[in-house]
Formats: sequence, C-alpha cells, structure tokens
Amino acid sequence: MAFSIASVRRTCVRPLIFLGLIGLLCLPLAGQPGRAADQTPPPPHQPSNEALQADPAAALKALVDGNARFVAGKTVHPRQDIERIKETAKGQKPFAIIVGCSDSRVPNEIIFDQGLGDLFIVRTAGQVSTYASWGSMEFAEEVLGAHLIVVLGHTKCGAVKAAVELPKVPGHIVTLINEIKPAAQRAKSMPGDPVENAVRENVRMQVEKLKGLEPVLAERVRDGKLKIVGAVYDLETGKVNLIE
Ligand SMILES: [Zn+2]
Repeated sequence: MAFSIASVRRTCVRPLIFLGLIGLLCLPLAGQPGRAADQTPPPPHQPSNEALQADPAAALKALVDGNARFVAGKTVHPRQDIERIKETAKGQKPFAIIVGCSDSRVPNEIIFDQGLGDLFIVRTAGQVSTYASWGSMEFAEEVLGAHLIVVLGHTKCGAVKAAVELPKVPGHIVTLINEIKPAAQRAKSMPGDPVENAVRENVRMQVEKLKGLEPVLAERVRDGKLKIVGAVYDLETGKVNLIE
C-alpha cells in the first residue's frame, strides 16, 4: 500500500519539520561560514563539543565528571569569559539537553561545571514537559546536534511533594500536579519516603515518555542515535545520581 500512514508521515511530515528547523537555524547564522568551532578550551580531559555530540556516552561522562568536580569543590568554571561569549554569538553546539526542574537550587551549568554553549536546558517545575518543551528538545536534537537527554529530578522537589500531599492546588499549578500524580500514585505502595520515591518514579516515567515520543525522539532512540537517561540531584550533597 503506497499511502500508509507511516509512509505519508515519512514523505511529508518529517521533511517539513526538518526544513522548518533548518530555516530557524539559518536565521542567526546568516553570513557565517558554518557553525562556530570551539576555540575556548573545555574542562581538562573533556573532549570538544563536536566529539561529545558524536558520542552520547562520552557526553554523559562529561556531565558526571563535571558534577564530581562540583561535589569535590574543584570546579573550573569553564568557558564563562568574554572569548566564549563572542564565540557562541556565532553559533552553538550544546552536547547535552537537560530537562530539569525550575528549582532555584538546581542551576544546571553550575552543578555540572559547564559553560556557555554547552547545555541546552528545558526547565519547568517538576520537569513536567508538554508540547513546547518537546519542541525545544526536538530542536536541540535535530538541528543543534545534541544526542543526549538527561531528565534531572531532585530531592525535596516542591512540585512532587504537592502531587503527593495536596488534594487541591490553585491556578495553573494543577497542570504540573496532574502530570506528576501517576508517579505519586505508584510511589504510594513503595517502602520508604513517599516524596523521594515519587521523585525517582517521576523521572523514570518521564524518561520512558520521552523515549516513546513520536515522531522525532522515538525514532532517534530506535536508531541508536539518541540516549535518554534519568538522574536525581541531591540537594544535601550536590551529587547527581543516575537512575538505572
Ligand atoms: Zn523541583
């Protein structure tokens, strides 16, 4: 059958999305010879962003290493100077997409010891994501070339706590809470702290949702080009713990 849903999607929808994204990319780069090459050095032993984009496992290691520096009080605050500002004004090649909570205590570049142009960050309370967030991730993956997504929850998350403990919340906060409720429900039957269990369960469910998110992310995961992992930041220690 020549006109199956899958073939129509492949022949019509995907190219349109891709062309649109390329158009968006070209606007800020008009007149540039191409995407800017890294001039300012990455942290010691960290490969270039081009190399990290090509190897999601190495990208994850760069984040783990950066967080280890942060926890040990040995941050190097890379690429946060005027040279990097000028360099990234020409273009960006972030090596990781962080889908994290808006909480003021979890600033991504600081806890991973990275600089300008390194991380593409999507933040909402409870790292709940819907259409606008998904589009942001797809843009970073398809156009900017980041092939690692880290869903980053954190201990003592207020949004998760509300989903676990409050029967009703005011205003648009309900949008967040409704998305976290299934994780809170699952965590109820687990031994231990219900909020911390729900934090981890929320991250697990969000990772699974993104892995299956058609038409872009799911296809990249199937192709083995995109890695999506979950992690929880510990407010007490500053450590990011990966969730298996
Ligand atoms: Zn939070």
